[in-house]
Parts: sequence; C-alpha cells; structure tokens
Amino acid sequence: MILITGGSGFIGSNFIHDWLSQYDEVIINIDKITYAGNPKNLANFESDSRYIFFKLDIGDKESINNILEKYEPRAILNFAAESHVDRSILGPEEFIKTNIVGTFNLLETSLKYWKSLNKDNMKKFRFFHVSTDEVYGSLLKDDPPFNETNKYLPNSPYSASKASSDHLVRSYHHTFGLPVLTSNCSNNYGPYHSVEKLIPLTISNALKGKDIPIYGNGKQIRDWLYVKDHTSAIRLILDKGKIGETYNVGGNNEKTNLSVVETICKILDDLSPKDDGKSYLNQISFVKDRPGHDARYAVDISKIHKELNWTPKYSFNKGIEQTVKWYIDNKEWVEDSSINVSNPNLESFYKD
Ligand code: NAD
Repeated sequence: MILITGGSGFIGSNFIHDWLSQYDEVIINIDKITYAGNPKNLANFESDSRYIFFKLDIGDKESINNILEKYEPRAILNFAAESHVDRSILGPEEFIKTNIVGTFNLLETSLKYWKSLNKDNMKKFRFFHVSTDEVYGSLLKDDPPFNETNKYLPNSPYSASKASSDHLVRSYHHTFGLPVLTSNCSNNYGPYHSVEKLIPLTISNALKGKDIPIYGNGKQIRDWLYVKDHTSAIRLILDKGKIGETYNVGGNNEKTNLSVVETICKILDDLSPKDDGKSYLNQISFVKDRPGHDARYAVDISKIHKELNWTPKYSFNKGIEQTVKWYIDNKEWVEDSSINVSNPNLESFYKD
C-alpha cells in the first residue's frame, strides 16, 4: 500500500480518485482537514476497503509512526500544505508550521520508518514530495521556462515555505540516504479545487451574478496543468523516477489570467446562458494587484518527457471545458467549498 498526506485537498483527492480507478492497491490518507480539506471529495470511498483515512497533522510524529509500523506502506507522498498565496501574505505562520516544520517532522518519521525496514523493502521505498514551480520565482516575458537547474528565488511566504521544504527533502536524501523524489509543477485546475482559487472562483462568482475579480491588469501569465495530467505524472515519477531527482511538470499552456477568465465566461455563455441574454464577461472587475505578484511562470518539461516519456494529454480547451461542466454539475459541492473558504480578510484583498 501507499500513504499520502493532504489527500482531502484539491490535487490529493484527484490523485486518490485516479489511483483507485486504476489500481487495487490500498491508499492511506492522512489529512488534518483544514479549511482546504473536504472529506466530501472522497465520499465515494468511505466504505471502500482500499481506502483508509486518518484525521491527523503531518507533524504528529507519534501517530504517524504508529500508522507506518502497522501498515508498512511502500511509499509516502506528501501533498499536505498550506497552498494559497494570498493567505500566506495575510498570515504566513501556518505556512511555516505545515510546509516547513510539518515536512521536517514527516521526514523524520519517514527516515525512522525507512531505517526499520528489511533490505528489500528499504530498496523499494520512496518518499515523494509534491512541490511547485513558484520556488523558481518570476520570469520576464522572453525568459526561457523554468528547468530543474534554475535557481530558487521564491517571492511569497508560500513559495519560500515550499522552497524550504524542497531543500529539507533534498538534504534527507543527500545526508541520510532517504530515497526521495520531488516534483515541481505549475498551476493545476480541475474538479475539487477550492473556490478561493482563480478558476473555480471565476466560475462560482459568474454563476452567482457576482463580480469576477482580476488582480491588476490581468496580464500575469501562468502555465495551466489539468489535474489529471499532474496525477499521471506523479504516478509515473513514483514508478520510474530516479531517486534524488526533481522533475518539473507543466501543461504547455501559458495563458494570461485575463484570457483564462474570458475563456471561462465564453464557455459559460454557451453552457449556462444568462436570463438577460448578456455575457458573463460583463461581470469582470479589475481589482488592486496582489503585493509582490509574480508576473510569469512557465515550465520546461523536457526532462520528464525525455527520461520518463511523459507529456500532458489535455489541451487547455478540453481541460477547461470539462472543468466548467464539473462546477456547473456540482453546485452543492461549490456551496460547501464557498462556506469552508469564506474569510472576510481575504475578501478585503479584492477591494480597492
Ligand atoms: P489544497 O490546499 O487544496 O489541499 C491541501 C490539503 O492539505 C488539505 O486537504 C488540507 O486539509 C491538508 N493539510 C494542510 N495542512 C496539513 C497538515 N499540517 N497536516 C495534514 N494535512 C494538512 O492544496 P492542493 O492545491 O491540493 O496542493 C497540493 C500540493 O501541491 C501542495 O503541496 C501544493 O503546494 C502543491 N502544488 C499545488 C498547485 C496547485 O495549482 N494547486 C501547484 C503546484 C504545487
């Protein structure tokens, strides 16, 4: 079996869905269920014997140690994190606690467990750390995309905390021999994404007739990766990745925030036209820019392509259409997510 942390969040729950749709191997999910974790994402598996859940903090060494001793997973995949840049600006402390100290504690527990395994299982074991392209900082318009040798230049408390965790993971391999793998991926989108993030927020606000906030002039560029392409890359790296290596994962879809929002509005105009016949584009509202906002992220995926033969399968048009349909069909989930993420301080971010 394998063990994942943060499996009740956006990417983790998609990973569990995709895993259990393809394999019979048991998956243990350890999640603290913060505002970003939603057990309803995994409600299908509540009575599935291949799914085991523990509500725990990744820093809880004793409990996690007991779970590792009891279940003996062949891999630990660390998805758990505080993940929203805006929240890291409002209050960085939780980011330091979970992303840095939590990862450190999880590494300590994993190392102790790994050392207790017999030779054969020690050889097979992997610690997989899920990270972000934001650790590399921001690109200018004509800079080449980030590759695995780029300098770490994180600009927000979020990306700085993820950068720290990447360094800790690297050091546990280099110093103690822990067999680690790290992926640094670009912006994901797809089902089960909290409605505080750009794409789900746009869909949700559009359908509720609310303003669709865009930071600054909306010209910030992100490389959008459909979450199912990300989960396929993680499975492949886990299976075939070289120990100690990092792999960049991207969608080959560089888009400005404004063009993403406009595309969503046009899809909604087709799939769910407004009663007054007007376009959702009229709801777009430009708001004060995020402090320290990175201008551009782009990811060079030639390493994972060459070494592991991975390429993203979803074009942006296909992925975004499926995503918009999912949010239209899952209004109850969207309502639930809106309540969970509701934060008056965060809303003040969108006001001038
Ligand atoms: P998310 O915020 O949707 O989910 C995070 C999950 O971790 C939640 O279920 C939460 O309850 C859990 N969690 C938080 N603190 C915890 C703790 N101390 N102990 C146990 N569980 C805890 O995040 P996501 O978007 O699914 O991101 C998953 C990982 O991928 C993160 O490490 C993030 O940095 C990375 N990442 C995300 C993106 C993206 O576009 N979403 C891009 C690059 C990298």
